[in-house]
Amino acid sequence: MTHQYFHGSIEVVCGPMFSGKTEELIRRVKRAQIAKQRVQIFKPAIDVRYDVEDVVSHSSQTIKAEPVESAVDILIRLKDSTRVVAIDEVQFFDENIITVVTKLAARGYRVICAGLDLDFRAQPFGPMPVLLALADEVMKIHAICTVCGAPATRSQRLNAHKERVLIGETDAYEARCRGHYQNDEAEEQALLPLEEEIKPLAGQLAN
Ligand code: ADP
Ligand code: MG
Repeated sequence: MTHQYFHGSIEVVCGPMFSGKTEELIRRVKRAQIAKQRVQIFKPAIDVRYDVEDVVSHSSQTIKAEPVESAVDILIRLKDSTRVVAIDEVQFFDENIITVVTKLAARGYRVICAGLDLDFRAQPFGPMPVLLALADEVMKIHAICTVCGAPATRSQRLNAHKERVLIGETDAYEARCRGHYQNDEAEEQALLPLEEEIKPLAGQLAN
């Protein structure tokens, strides 16, 4: 056994839509391939936006990927010679992805995950908070706000659909900064006086 490759790791690349997560995943994969490390790339079968078999960035970079129905399928499809496991759109996987990623790192694989940290309601997306906490390395990247050009951390849904996962429609979202992101369902963006904000929180602390 070579000790050189024994230590695995978890890298997470996150940010809103259009922030370059897929480009960054592809960049890391290509560099691993230059280092002659065998890479397997997975994506959830749910994400068929551009291509069933490819990971495609918004700037049309592509790389071959294996679509999988569930997180456990990643373990089932793993090949002996693989050293690096890259997973795009990792936010769409079930909670088992946390166990799968952890087990892979424990077995010495380098795991590179890319995914949305927040959903269109600006709430943490599925397994992402735990993956970010467990990661050895986190990269949080920004897109460009389509309204003002500032760094964008949020994905604005442009239609009124309420379901969390809405894919196949590439023009359904825009990147927005905090100031230009609008969420009708948020309990209102109008700010209360600070004492009013503190009261219910202080109540929770007392209980
Ligand atoms: P992600 O995977 O985070 O959705 P991609 O890697 O697929 O992002 O695409 C990033 C690319 O999208 C950028 O390099 C740029 O060419 C393009 N792009 C389109 N709209 C925007 C935007 N509002 N902000 C930044 N990049 C954008
Ligand atoms: Mg992407």
